[in-house]
Amino acid sequence: MKILITAGPTVEAIDPVRYFTNKSTGKMGFALAQAALDAGHDVILITGPVSFEAPPGIKRIDVKSAQEMHQAVMSEVDQADVFIAAAAVADYRPKEVLTHKFKKSDGNWHIEMVRNPDILFEVGQLENKPFSVGFAAETENMMENAKAKLKRKNCDMIASNDVSSREIGFGSAYNALNVIWPEGQAEIGKATKEDVAKTLITLIKERYAHRST
Ligand code: C5P
Repeated sequence: MKILITAGPTVEAIDPVRYFTNKSTGKMGFALAQAALDAGHDVILITGPVSFEAPPGIKRIDVKSAQEMHQAVMSEVDQADVFIAAAAVADYRPKEVLTHKFKKSDGNWHIEMVRNPDILFEVGQLENKPFSVGFAAETENMMENAKAKLKRKNCDMIASNDVSSREIGFGSAYNALNVIWPEGQAEIGKATKEDVAKTLITLIKERYAHRST
């Protein structure tokens, strides 16, 4: 299969020296890219700024903002059988990017934020959409939110993790996932992100084969 993966955070500029970002390290996305490569798939990895090296044999595209990630995904998605959205894409960006460093004063600074494109949602609207897998980082009501997300973003699978636990998810070497698809579900118990990635790639391959028949 040809697998397109997004990974890492996005970075949304405020002025030449300031930006908004989030706690994603890209570890899960890179582990998925490695697991997909090891399983013999072609991998395109579109990543926000992270400190990982991509394994040789992967096509890596580096981006900074959600808008850049959106553009890169839309230009690569036609070739993909599977799309895995593992990036923590910023939902909002500053309406304006200041060309000069904002000078502090005594008053407050109000920054207007506008919505970024929802990449996974847009892929779900494509006529020839790939088998799409979304992630859901939740702190409560994991199951209901995952089911709603599966429908709303027209995905084939949603992998949720509980980010309120400090032992898994953001910044941790471990993860645990609750995976749902329209006709079923599976639990991937706490393991290293590498092992979780391997199991998820196997599951995706099974469900993809099921969809294609
Ligand atoms: O809506 P929410 O942010 O919870 O959805 C998370 C899923 O959607 C993840 O798979 C993430 O990569 C993807 N996403 C995206 N573009 C956005 C926001 C989220 O692709 N702007």
